[in-house]
Amino acid sequence: ATQSFVALIIGVTGIVGNGLAETLSLRDTPGGPWKVYGVARRPQPSWNMDNPIHYIQCDVSNQNDVELKLSPLYDVTHIFYVSWANMPTETQNREVNSAMLRNVLRTLIRNAPNLQHVSLQTGTKHYVGSFADFGKIKAIESPFTEDSPRLDAQVFYYQQEDILLEEVGKKKGMTWFVTRPHVIFGFSPYSMMNLIGTLCVYAAICKHEGLPLKFPGSKATWECYSPASDSNLIVDQHIWGAVNPTVKNQAFNCSNGDVYKWKHLWKVLADKFGIEDYEFDEEGPELRLTEMMKDKGGVWEEIVKKNGLLHTKLEEVGDWWFADFMLRVEGVLDSMNKAKEHGFLGFRNSKNSFINWIDKTKAYKIVP
Ligand code: NAD
Repeated sequence: ATQSFVALIIGVTGIVGNGLAETLSLRDTPGGPWKVYGVARRPQPSWNMDNPIHYIQCDVSNQNDVELKLSPLYDVTHIFYVSWANMPTETQNREVNSAMLRNVLRTLIRNAPNLQHVSLQTGTKHYVGSFADFGKIKAIESPFTEDSPRLDAQVFYYQQEDILLEEVGKKKGMTWFVTRPHVIFGFSPYSMMNLIGTLCVYAAICKHEGLPLKFPGSKATWECYSPASDSNLIVDQHIWGAVNPTVKNQAFNCSNGDVYKWKHLWKVLADKFGIEDYEFDEEGPELRLTEMMKDKGGVWEEIVKKNGLLHTKLEEVGDWWFADFMLRVEGVLDSMNKAKEHGFLGFRNSKNSFINWIDKTKAYKIVP
């Protein structure tokens, strides 16, 4: 069979990029099997090697590197941009993330004559503001719909969308798509924000040290309804956006379509790691993983060695700041009505999604 669709995944080792690589190469994927190029900053990690892709190590924040490594990819038809840089301030986030996206788009638009579509992944911060601003500025009222006005605040996603439209607009017939997921349930040991992986590492450390699995979040978040976005559902939405002419040039929310409570998922996590004591600690102070995990690097090394795990450093697999943040978020829901009304009927059972990704994190020997 001739391959007509050629994907370039920017961020192929990430929490969605890894799944895109897996799915696009399958024969029964819409438009598939795709030829797939995948870009990431570091050498290809072992858990990404099962994917039949052309792996390219390239720093997309470096224009010269992009010119050198990506300008030869003349046959690319679709770009899936699932990457970002996490800088100390939102001003820097804007600068660096804008430059990264622009570097990729300019080089490919110039060199790939068949390029027809760019799919960008942003997220719910579109509606609530940057991590620094969250809770400090007035967010859009939840549940969020895609037509909400932008916040009067700095969010690097806004510049990314502007650049996307500007660059895509330079080539006749080219289309764009934006997906805005909520917190992602998925697999990627290198991800900058991997909530499940982080909680698995925390649970493994509690188990190893014989400690109870205390909930490092707020009582409100323990009790309230929360949403999530399964990374494979996001993969499906990226592909849906790429092959459906009627949904081009639009932004869509992407979440599982159900809600869960952390107090229920916490029991699942405890069971998976054989921990019996896992309740919310009513007596003690509110806990933060950034504090609790500060000196656990040595313990993690021990756990890795003892269980024959893939070698990782604690700071690679434990995104403590992110878990501390997410386990204090309350009542932030997005609406899936627009996606459904346009024919995207995908959904996931969040509890099963939580279980599946824990199992995958164990199967790939990231945690015991
Ligand atoms: P990730 O951190 O899982 O993966 C990032 C990927 O980009 C990796 O493959 C990494 O190697 C690559 N990368 C980073 N910098 C690079 C560079 N300079 N050059 C080349 N490659 C580089 O990414 P993610 O979490 O999927 O994030 C993508 C978007 O999704 C971001 O805008 C993020 O805010 C958004 N989002 C993430 C979550 C989440 O829970 N992770 C939730 C909602 C929205």
